[in-house]
This record gives sequence, C-alpha cells and structure tokens, in this order.
Amino acid sequence: AAKDKGRDTIALYDQAMDRKARDRREIETDLREAVARDQLNIHYQPVIDLDSGEVGGYEALLRWYHPQRGVVRPDEFLGVAEETGLIVPIGEWVIGQALRETATWDGDFRIAINLSPTQVRSPHLVDVVARAIHAHGFDPGRVEFEITEHVLMQKGSVCGANLEKLRELGTKIALDDFGIGYSSLSYLRRFPFDRIKIDKDFVEDIEQSADNQAIVSSITRLADALGMAATAEGVETRAQLDLLRKLGCQEAQGYLICEPVPGENFATPDAVEAAMHGEASGILDYRK
Ligand code: C2E
Ligand code: MG
Ligand code: MG
Ligand code: MG
Repeated sequence: AAKDKGRDTIALYDQAMDRKARDRREIETDLREAVARDQLNIHYQPVIDLDSGEVGGYEALLRWYHPQRGVVRPDEFLGVAEETGLIVPIGEWVIGQALRETATWDGDFRIAINLSPTQVRSPHLVDVVARAIHAHGFDPGRVEFEITEHVLMQKGSVCGANLEKLRELGTKIALDDFGIGYSSLSYLRRFPFDRIKIDKDFVEDIEQSADNQAIVSSITRLADALGMAATAEGVETRAQLDLLRKLGCQEAQGYLICEPVPGENFATPDAVEAAMHGEASGILDYRK
C-alpha cells in the first residue's frame, strides 16, 4: 500500500508538472501576441514625500489585460518573459508608453520604470531610452530606472556599461527591493545609486518588530551617508507611515496612499485629488 501511495504521489506530481509546463507554454504563446494585440497596460502608483505630502513620482507597473485570465500581474509572466527574451520588446514598449502617457501630466514628478537583468543587458536599451526621452520632451533627470541586485549579479560588462550610459544621459537609478535576497552592501559601492527602495518585507510588521525598525533606520542612515534617498514600499497603514517618517525615510509608496491604477487617474490635478482622496486616508492627511 505504501508503494501504491508513493506511485500515486509521483503521478500527482507528474500531473502538476505537466500542468505547469502547459501553463508556461500557454503564457509564452499568449504573451507573444499581447503587445501586438494591445493587451499590455501600465498602472501607476504614486510615491509621496513624507515631509511635504506631495507626489514625488509615479512607478510604472506593468499589467496584462488577458482576454480570458483577466488582469495578470507581472509576477505571473515576468519569469517566462525573461526566459524567452520577450521582456526586451515588452520592456521597450513600457519605456515608450510610460513616457508618452505621462508627458502631459501636471507637476514636477519622476517617472520610475523597472528594468530586468535581460533588459539591462540589451544592446538597444540606451537608444530606446534616449529616443523616448527626446520624443516626449522629458527632462532625463525626471526618469528613474529601478533595478534589483540581480542586475548587478550579471556576469560581463554590458550591464555596467549600460547603467553608466543611462547615467550619462542624465537618468536616475534606484536599487529596488533592498534588504531581501543577498543585498550585499558591496552592491551599494558598485554603482552610485540615486535611491534605495526598502523592500516591503521590512515595512509589513514594522510596528511589532523592533528588529525591522532597527533595520529600516539603519538603511535610511546608510542611504543618507551615501548621498542616496530612501523610499519605503508596501505601506498599508497610517502607523507604518508615521513610523517610517520618524525613522528618517523620505518617501513612501503603498496601498494606504494609493494602489497602482491606470494613468487616467493622474492625468489632471482633479483626477489626482480624486484618486488620492478616495479614502479617509487622503494624501493631505499625511502632511505634518
Ligand atoms: P516592485 O518594483 O518591487 O514593485 C512593487 C510591487 O508591490 C508592485 O507589485 C506593487 O503593485 C506592489 N505594491 C504596492 N503597494 C503595495 C502594498 O501596500 N502592499 C503590497 N502587498 N504590495 C504593494 P506588482 O505590480 O505586482 O509588480 C511586481 C514586480 O514586477 C515589481 O516589483 C517589479 O519588479 C516587476 N515589474 C512590474 N512592472 C514591470 C515592468 O514594466 N518591467 C519589469 N522588468 N518589471 C516589472
Ligand atoms: Mg520597482
Ligand atoms: Mg520593490
Ligand atoms: Mg518587488
């Protein structure tokens, strides 16, 4: 009986593997069509300055409006996109679309765009960025790219050279998801980042965890000493926000302030007010 049970378990496992492989193939096939069929969209999430309460920037977050699956989040398809190289044309679309869409918005905000390792390795990246900035009349200093340590773990010099060239263009570079993974401090020396984004892992239970408070306060001081700004992600409660401000964090982003939503929510000052005031926890409340 034990043997049967083992065999059943293996059969179930095989079935699960089959399903997974089928899922991946399906995602790959559908994703190839997604750009052409106009199924990709960008949602934007505001990042606020904790002193002034003003919007300091918007992070562009990719969404796939899949005809059957509904709105698919990047974690479900980025792996496939990365493995197949599809992330390169998709990422190029994101850069063009984000700058096109936000070029007419009011205010002095940054636009933050995430870049994966394969994108940073791409020989066309810098050209694509330069062309988009030029086409939409963006001040390069208002464009920020978010990379994770995975980019810096790449072998070869193309990544480093591309980051240097982006910097020469005048764009900013942020280190995303800081504190999780390896987060070796030596990455902070490898490139002069403009900003560190503190991973939401440390924000989630910051009120209960003296350890997380110590870590966040250390990261903000480290960032400050290195001439970098610190932004906390994943802020969901007012208490977290107040604590982060007390711990020296300059900027915050999270569902409390605003969820990532389509661009039309930020296209006019009135729309921004409405998007951020939707809850009792409107942005003006954050002003000290
Ligand atoms: P990320 O850059 O670290 O983005 C932050 C993620 O946290 C986003 O997930 C955002 O929706 C989510 N988030 C924001 N506020 C809160 C909150 O208060 N609580 C919680 N629990 N989550 C919050 P999303 O949009 O699913 O994106 C996941 C990841 O996919 C991003 O992580 C980024 O690494 C990647 N990504 C997104 N868009 C792109 C893109 O255009 N290109 C590339 N290469 N990667 C992208
Ligand atoms: Mg990011
Ligand atoms: Mg992040
Ligand atoms: Mg993340």
